[in-house]
Parts: sequence; C-alpha cells; structure tokens
Amino acid sequence: MIDQNAPVLVTGGSGYIASWVVRLLLEKGYKVHTTVRNKSKVKKVAHLLKMQEKYPNHLSLFEADLLKNGSFEAAMKGCELVIHTASPFKLNIKDAQKELIDPALKGTRNVLNEASKASVDSPSSVKRVVLTSSVVSIYGDAIDLKSTPNQVFTEEQWNTTSSIKHQPYAYSKTLAEKEAWEIQKKQTQWDLVVINPGFVLGPSLSKRTDGESTSFILQLLSGEFKSGAPELIFGAVDVREVAQAHLLAGLTPNASGRHILVEGCYSILDMAARFQKAFPNKYKLPKKTLPKFLLYLVGPFIGFSWRFVSNNVGHPMAFDNSYSKKDLNLSYRPMLETLRDQAEQLERDGLL
Ligand code: NAP
Repeated sequence: MIDQNAPVLVTGGSGYIASWVVRLLLEKGYKVHTTVRNKSKVKKVAHLLKMQEKYPNHLSLFEADLLKNGSFEAAMKGCELVIHTASPFKLNIKDAQKELIDPALKGTRNVLNEASKASVDSPSSVKRVVLTSSVVSIYGDAIDLKSTPNQVFTEEQWNTTSSIKHQPYAYSKTLAEKEAWEIQKKQTQWDLVVINPGFVLGPSLSKRTDGESTSFILQLLSGEFKSGAPELIFGAVDVREVAQAHLLAGLTPNASGRHILVEGCYSILDMAARFQKAFPNKYKLPKKTLPKFLLYLVGPFIGFSWRFVSNNVGHPMAFDNSYSKKDLNLSYRPMLETLRDQAEQLERDGLL
C-alpha cells in the first residue's frame, strides 16, 4: 500500500499524457514531484505552473533528462510511487538510435535503477513503478494480427516484427518495456505495473501542438486528408482514461502485469465520421479511402515505406481490453466524446 502522504513522482510532466496524470493526482490530494527537461521553456510548463497556483505546496517541478545518469535522484526522494511516462513519441525522425532508442532504453534504466538505489544516507522509498508502455510493444504491424490466436491482440503477445529500420518507435517501446521487466526481476523492493495504451486522443491540458496525438487531429480537422485518407486502423483510447489507469495501476495494491488500454478500433474515416456527427459540415474531413496502389506510389514521399503500406494499410485490428476492466476496474467513454472534447479544446485554445 502506497503512503498517501508520500509524494508521487511523474516523469515528463510537460507531456500530453503525464499532464493529465499530474492533474488527477493533485485532484485526489496527492503531493506530486514531476520532472521536465527545462523549467524555463514556458510553452511546455505553463499549464504546470497554473496547477502549482491552484494546488499550493502540492506540485514540485524538477529538471531531469532521460540520458543523464542520476538525473532523477532529487525528484525521486521520498516517493513510494514512480510513474515513468517520459519517452520520446515521434514518428518523423532522422536518427532512430539517437532520437528514440537511446532515450527510451537508457531513460528506463536510469529511472528504474534509481528506484532500487539504496544508500545509508537515503534508502530508496519506492514500492511501485508504473511504466507507460504502448500497444506497439505488443504488435509492430497490423498484419501481425493474422498470426495471433483468435485474431485478437492480448497482453500475452510481444512485438517481434519491429526493428531500428522498420517501425523504430515501436521498437524503442518494446525494448524499453522488456528492459523494465528485466530490471524489476533483479530486485524485490518495488513491483512493476505496465500500461499499454493504443493511440491516445482527447483534450490536451497544454497548448503544445508538437505531440503526435494533437498534431494528428489538427491535420485531420484542418483538411489535410480531405481528398482521401489511407485505410489505417488503430486501437484508440481517451487520454483521461489513460491517466486514470496510471493512478489505478499505482494505487491498487493487487494490480499487476501489462494492461492494453483501447476503447475501440477506428480508421481515419471512422474518426472523421464522428467529427462530422459532432460538428456537422464544420471541418474539411475526408469522405473516401485512398486506394492502396496510390499509397505505394506516393508513400515513399510522405514517409510510408512499401513494407509499411503492405503490412498496415487495409488490415483489420482487434484488441482484448478485458484485463484493464478486470484488474483496474477501468471503464471507457465513447470515442465520439473523446474527439468532440478534443476539437473543442483545440478551438478554445485557438489552435485550429
Ligand atoms: P509527449 O507529449 O510528446 O510527451 C513525451 C514526454 O517525454 C515529454 O514530457 C518529453 O519532454 C519527455 N521526453 C522526451 N525525451 C526526453 C528526454 N531525453 N529527457 C527527458 N524527458 C524526455 O507524448 P505523450 O503522448 O504524452 O507520450 C508519453 C508516453 O506515452 C510516452 O512514453 C509514449 O511512448 C507513451 N504512449 C503515447 C501514446 C500516444 O498515442 N500519445 C500511446 C501509447 C503510449 P519535453 O516536454 O521536454 O519534450
């Protein structure tokens, strides 16, 4: 059982998901330590500073970098629960090793080894670590579904098809989650609970637009797919459920294992149809699917390799989310509400 008076560490508090985790913890009365790379980057921390004002003496900001050893020591002091969310989520990269794999893997080692570090002066107080992994640690390409029992992804599966060259983000998340389980096995002080969300959507607490979740919806609503959308199908989930799942994973004594977090599976056209229903004729949304042969032709110019198109476009997707409901008692709001609230936030913040 986590001491309710001990601070909770959330790494990467400036991020889309972590911001909601911080907010829910503050709303529940917890003291929160959160790390950011640079406290003076106003655009990244403005919403955290507002939370500090709203919850005086409850939120402390620390500077830490995933790549710097010992970086998380000060922030972790006195914490019994560590929620490790910081990790780069970028699809458009030049150097996968430097931009994705090193920070994901070394960052996991850095944070989790810190959690087991004990010295005479300051024995570690950590009892539980919650790691933000992803469904992409479970599968790499949509076509992988064909080789699963019953054609549905469960927590039993691991991504075996991604590499530094093909789906490097998925590869970085797979390596990081595997490493976390290895580090956990080597000690007995803390246990590990893993959250594996699908594509996370819904309102952001900050005005940042550089994250993949926000930038994808901005593209969709600003008409970038208006002449047609590739038939890519994702498991998707609301950011507020993802944050809630992190709290439940951290605070439920018997919670254990990996947890797929997916409300349902949607193509880009399915999402467009929900926006159309919530805001009739307001946005230039796609109405038709781009033919696959066209994607083979133009794909390489827009960052889609032939292998990506072949293994992902037009393939179905299915997840079993029952363990998240059973182990964490999580319930999911419908995607219509998620997307409606996200469009309203983007309008309210003047980003559309
Ligand atoms: P995000 O808004 O881009 O947040 C990423 C966070 O990681 C930011 O706080 C970022 O710091 C931090 N970070 C990146 N590199 C770092 C480094 N070298 N040192 C310290 N911090 C670093 O993305 P997000 O969507 O919230 O993702 C958060 C986590 O959820 C990631 O682990 C991601 O893999 C996972 N996830 C996301 C989704 C999704 O659809 N969004 C789905 C499944 C899993 P800065 O603010 O300084 O950039």
